[in-house]
Amino acid sequence: MTSVHPLRLRAFITQVDTTGGPDACWLWRGDLTTDGYARFGKQNDPAHRVAYELMVRPVPDGLVVDHLCHNADQSCPGGTGCVHRRCVNPAHLEAVTQRDNLLRSPHTAPNRNAAKTHCPRGHEYSPENTYSRRTAKGRARRECKTCRRERIAARAAA
Ligand SMILES: [Zn+2]
Ligand SMILES: [Zn+2]
Ligand SMILES: [Zn+2]
Repeated sequence: MTSVHPLRLRAFITQVDTTGGPDACWLWRGDLTTDGYARFGKQNDPAHRVAYELMVRPVPDGLVVDHLCHNADQSCPGGTGCVHRRCVNPAHLEAVTQRDNLLRSPHTAPNRNAAKTHCPRGHEYSPENTYSRRTAKGRARRECKTCRRERIAARAAA
């Protein structure tokens, strides 16, 4: 666990850009990992985790620190192009299980699909136009009724 020490907190804060105000992402001005994550101190600790421990509470055993700002930003390209990996604003951080961390990410496939509002051919996934069904693997899957009708009509005409 990271020890909370006033000098450690000061050394930390001097590397943070807080000019955007309390609600903005506080971007790390110090060193980054090759994946674009902020790192802090001689141990190269993940800076967002250190921020959480210094300013919120110790991270409970087995939990990871998730970036809420990343989860909320559907336009984030993810990967090393993700600016949120440099964010250490404690208001944007939450300690969660690794499982929740993955489930919440806008970059995991189920979430990407859930965020879509239209079928691949541009029909809206409105309640009237959407079938919900389960795949063989038990995953929920949406199907566009308009497309389905057109497929059936095309088959009948053939
Ligand atoms: Zn942020
Ligand atoms: Zn991001
Ligand atoms: Zn459709």
